[in-house]
Amino acid sequence: MLYRKYRPQSFSQVVRQEHVVRTLEGAISSGRIGQSYLFTGPRGTGKTTLARIFAKALNCAEFGKKGAVVPCNACVACLAVNNGISLDLIEIDAASNRGIDEIRALKESAQVAAPSGGYKVFLIDEVHMLTKESFNALLKVLEEPPSHVVFILATTEPHKILTTVLSRVQRFDFKRITPGDIAGKLKSIARVEKIQIDDDALLAVAKSADGALRDAEVALTKIRSMIPSGQISLAQVSNVLGLIPYTYHPQFMGYLASGDKASAVALIHSIHDAGMDLEHFTKEFISYARGALLSRVNPTLSGSIEGPEAHNQFVTLASIDNDKLIKIINVFTLARSQIKFSPIPQLPLELAVMQL
Ligand SMILES: [Zn+2]
Repeated sequence: MLYRKYRPQSFSQVVRQEHVVRTLEGAISSGRIGQSYLFTGPRGTGKTTLARIFAKALNCAEFGKKGAVVPCNACVACLAVNNGISLDLIEIDAASNRGIDEIRALKESAQVAAPSGGYKVFLIDEVHMLTKESFNALLKVLEEPPSHVVFILATTEPHKILTTVLSRVQRFDFKRITPGDIAGKLKSIARVEKIQIDDDALLAVAKSADGALRDAEVALTKIRSMIPSGQISLAQVSNVLGLIPYTYHPQFMGYLASGDKASAVALIHSIHDAGMDLEHFTKEFISYARGALLSRVNPTLSGSIEGPEAHNQFVTLASIDNDKLIKIINVFTLARSQIKFSPIPQLPLELAVMQL
């Protein structure tokens, strides 16, 4: 799997979470290590990856040496973490170990010194899944942690974390990774792996991942296994990942702009007949229209959301004015919410076309 192979091993390789990296590196260089951290953010944004790098840095042989870059990824302790055999880093998946017994075992383990004599790091992933009883037991440990222990709690749902816990931890919010950033990382992987793939195809992979770098890397693995040789095109990627070809969006927009209702409706029918999900198509079309609107207000902004090439794809939409774009977005947002409840899935979209 590419995502395992290219998982960042040091702070500098982490994409997009500079605000977290800077603070953690600062803690390491100053030697002021907190005892409880909470990493929150959408899935696939690097929470456990960064937690492992931090844990590795704390027990790295270079830790505390002036001017050293940690983790060094060369000492025995670093290699143990990289190979998943470190006894100083204890990972608990709270989704499958949510009971009180696990937390009691954790509590006992926390009292015992780290085998290396350094820090013992507990990484509790999906911590919001713990039962209430377990959470209270965990809170007791967080209130008086042994000095050699560091807790890193990770969650995709911070609103489910008790405020009593929140008050005990240093919290970091991980950002969703932009399609542009994801495409950049995929491009560097493709280069090393000698995967020949068009830029617009990479961007489509990046967009389909919805901010989760890991999902994009998994998708790239899948594409490579399905298309082992030759130059990979956008059409092939769309096919492998079941994406709606994004040529449909400008095409549909063109019909709406020129008032060609018959062709717009025909396109809706052909998408539906091809077995593609209309709700998904509408979501992506709205996102496309939004990109077009944003690119007028601020081309840099749409570039950071949609990737560097984004602005160019909207040039052809010059004939639609902003008011019409806004109307299109509103009408189709409403239509999308109705698809699920409609006896005929195409109907809300057909009505939306008529209404414009
Ligand atoms: Zn090291």
